[in-house]
Amino acid sequence: MAVQQNKVSKSRRNNRRAHDALTAANPNECSNCGELKRPHHVCPSCGHYGDREVVAVANEVDLDEDAA
Ligand SMILES: [Zn+2]
Repeated sequence: MAVQQNKVSKSRRNNRRAHDALTAANPNECSNCGELKRPHHVCPSCGHYGDREVVAVANEVDLDEDAA
């Protein structure tokens, strides 16, 4: 088992972790449907990017259809 040679002080440990904080997501409003979306990504709710539809949004799939 590897054993550290020197104790890492609280100060050095905390300094190392100073850059570990997570940054919050920065969502934009979709210009087509107004839903919040990630910037520079296709809108997941309407499939638009900019002012045109680039991904067709599938209709709701009924999973119980085959079970009956
Ligand atoms: Zn949208």
